[in-house]
Amino acid sequence: MRIILLGPPGAGKGTQAKRLMDAEGIPQISTGDILRKAVADQTPLGREAKSVMDSGGLVPDQVVIGLIRERLGQSDAVKGFILDGFPRTVPQAEALDGLLVDLKRPLSAVAAIDVEPSELVRRLSGRRVCQACQAAYHVEFNPPKREGVCDRCGGALIQRDDDKEATIRRRLEVYREQTEPLIAYYKGKGLARLVNGIGNVDEISGRLREALAGA
Ligand code: AMP
Repeated sequence: MRIILLGPPGAGKGTQAKRLMDAEGIPQISTGDILRKAVADQTPLGREAKSVMDSGGLVPDQVVIGLIRERLGQSDAVKGFILDGFPRTVPQAEALDGLLVDLKRPLSAVAAIDVEPSELVRRLSGRRVCQACQAAYHVEFNPPKREGVCDRCGGALIQRDDDKEATIRRRLEVYREQTEPLIAYYKGKGLARLVNGIGNVDEISGRLREALAGA
């Protein structure tokens, strides 16, 4: 299965990608996670990306395309992959098409998770992530057993810098302008499958499974 999870920030792409990864035994490839790791490790890439990410903008296409080219070349991606947060612009989608033609590994499907903006702001502003293992929580909908502490590994839970309200608004704007056109792009290729992203995590997983059946 070679799929893209498309949808606005806060739609639940990361959560659903992790579930699919466990169910299907294929890697989740998140450009956001790769970039956050580079920022934490203070690599040259991380230093370049940090201010763009903190402001809610997009890292240049050529940078993320390079990251994806390298990641898809690793051996665990041969049996399939779940792309989460990539592509985010039409040039990224076109570059991915070219890359997958070269690799002779065409996409199976693109699941577009739909959630309205007011709900996204609620989800993102309450989101907390484990600094150590990246597990995701929500102060209201999915709180940890002990406030501020990861259930899974005991790591500290933090709010991402880009989950602050002003940045959230900017990220949603960028999504509408630059990423949403990809739904039409993949509809045109007969690959898009629309998934209602309102409900609890299990409900959305069920809908996603149905949408991807046969993919
Ligand atoms: P995410 O975790 O997917 O919400 O990504 C967090 C941030 O990383 C985004 O707001 C962007 O600044 C950057 N980023 C992640 N993926 C991409 C991408 N495909 N293209 C450009 N920037 C990206």
